[in-house]
Amino acid sequence: MDSCGDGDNLDVVAFMKLALEQAKIAFDGLEVPVGCVIVMDGKVISCGRNRTNKTRNATRHAEMEAIDVLLNQWKKLKLSKAEVSEMFSKCYLYVTCEPCIMCAAALSFLGIKEVYYGCANDKFGGCGSILSLHTSCEEAGGKSYKCTGGIMAEEAVSLFRNFYELGNPNGTNSESWSQYEFRILLRNLTDSQFNSYDANRRLGFCSFMKGLVTASCLPTTTTITIAGLQKASVVPAGSRG
Ligand SMILES: [Zn+2]
Repeated sequence: MDSCGDGDNLDVVAFMKLALEQAKIAFDGLEVPVGCVIVMDGKVISCGRNRTNKTRNATRHAEMEAIDVLLNQWKKLKLSKAEVSEMFSKCYLYVTCEPCIMCAAALSFLGIKEVYYGCANDKFGGCGSILSLHTSCEEAGGKSYKCTGGIMAEEAVSLFRNFYELGNPNGTNSESWSQYEFRILLRNLTDSQFNSYDANRRLGFCSFMKGLVTASCLPTTTTITIAGLQKASVVPAGSRG
């Protein structure tokens, strides 16, 4: 593992522990347990945890929560777009699970400096597992960022395992993770978030950042479209229990 820029490997673990604390708070709130912190100049400047159930909004992933805290702060300070980009270019994200395709693309468009994550996201991972958006968004106007996985991955996986073994309030134990995610997507459907929806085919469409990024997920295929250009259509790896 390389330096995180603001310290050594001990810092990486220390920040990931803080991200795991956020994931545990999500767990206690009956949310899928994912948490994150954003670090600048060696200090935590924002944190977030998954809030998709509470907000009834399938896009409220931990990363989005933490990013919005900063965007709101910087908006109040009346920072220009260039200044906001400059700020993000100094930020490190520590998140317990690999960013999904939506979050991975958003991080690229915001120009984050570097990402550290815990466990891989076999179904929706956007930093290597399904797509590699951390290195492939430049054509669409994003920036590449360095991404390192496997930091305290066991702790992150064990939180997931505990969550699904307990029987989450919205699914059954026999459902795969992707099926569960689909149920969340469909249950939280609102017109502004989703362009189209076909219950029979279990197709969900998610529009994000004014149509810059569109991700559609079918049971067998994941497609990502950036700025109207289809970037990839892939069949995810075997189902995750
Ligand atoms: Zn995400």
